[in-house]
Amino acid sequence: MKSGFVAIFGKPNAGKSTLLNALVGEKLAIVSHKSQTTRHRIRAFLNGDGYQVIFSDTPGIIDPEYKLHEKMMQAVRGALEDADLALLLVDLREAPEVAHAVFEPLKLRVPAFVVLNKTDQVSAETVRQAEAFFADKPYCKAVLAVSALRKENLEALTAKIIDMLPEGNPFFPEDELTDLPTRFFTAELVREKIFELFEQEIPYHATVLVAEFKELPHLVRIKADIIVQRESQKAILLGGKGVMIKKLGTEARTSIESFLGRKVYLELFVKVRPKWRDNELHLREYGYN
Ligand code: GDP
Ligand code: MG
Repeated sequence: MKSGFVAIFGKPNAGKSTLLNALVGEKLAIVSHKSQTTRHRIRAFLNGDGYQVIFSDTPGIIDPEYKLHEKMMQAVRGALEDADLALLLVDLREAPEVAHAVFEPLKLRVPAFVVLNKTDQVSAETVRQAEAFFADKPYCKAVLAVSALRKENLEALTAKIIDMLPEGNPFFPEDELTDLPTRFFTAELVREKIFELFEQEIPYHATVLVAEFKELPHLVRIKADIIVQRESQKAILLGGKGVMIKKLGTEARTSIESFLGRKVYLELFVKVRPKWRDNELHLREYGYN
């Protein structure tokens, strides 16, 4: 099983949304709500035989006409580095130098594919030149030319993406994809509270998975697992006489209620899963740098 996170980056209009749609097809999950501190806007999950790809947009706007603010650059870079793979999307109608001027200063360490989009709009020669331009750039692991709109060459892109993903279990349930966004954001809100209430180590080592999400007539019943790697971490999360988990539960419920606009009954369970340690790199996706 392979699973991992793929961050898509590019100027507005490069075709990020279109590409996401095209890559995941009907399984696209759009997340319209976003809490302020959510760094990763998970948009779409691609589940297949033996793999799960979690695609996300990157935060921040990019307008290479302006010199990027350093902070924004850091945020963008951080989000990209948290992924297993970055897709650097290029609008082929623009000169490759324009995109390069944005990609190069990122100084990415994470492997990146340069994805040349809108092949349907330009000549084969333009595509060839852009391929040649990016091929030897230090951040570029591979160049692929696609048309997101016409769904051209996307199988090749998907195959290459899966190739790059680490071995590991899926991060999200492979069924019930339709309500996954809500589930995910519910998990995010719990995670956000963990960040607020606990010291450094805990948030890094904890992840949250929503095990049950039931919309009942008068309330939404949610069961969420907080997964940690060690008993000691579980003890900290629970607190003496369960005082911390109670506080966490109350505060998380309040924020989930305002997010959903509905009354919520929230149950939290802390589980120790040592094997999550193997996925520590991935767990960074759930945390902040
Ligand atoms: P985003 O801002 O990066 O998310 O870009 P969008 O996905 O919203 O796309 C911006 C525009 O480019 C839309 O009008 C898309 O239809 C168009 N677009 C995206 N991909 C392609 C493509 O492969 N070919 C063509 N011709 N247009 C595309
Ligand atoms: Mg978009």
